[in-house]
Amino acid sequence: MNELNCLAPVDLERYCLGQMSEPELGKTEEHLLWCQECITNAEARDRFLGTMRTAVRRLQSHAKPQSNDRSRVSKGPNGRG
Ligand SMILES: [Zn+2]
Repeated sequence: MNELNCLAPVDLERYCLGQMSEPELGKTEEHLLWCQECITNAEARDRFLGTMRTAVRRLQSHAKPQSNDRSRVSKGPNGRG
């Protein structure tokens, strides 16, 4: 059972917003290294937070190397509304 160790939605949000500090921050990142579920949850939030996209990608690249073909990013000055 990993639920006890899994990140709470509020924690994910704090992490996404960069409001989390050590040692919680380290634990969270460490958890995201192996817990795909929390990564998915974080990414879902990232869809509207748009803050931790880089962080998660960085973590995932550590966990499993993936070739990123999609370099097509629409550059828009309007990131959030
Ligand atoms: Zn988890």
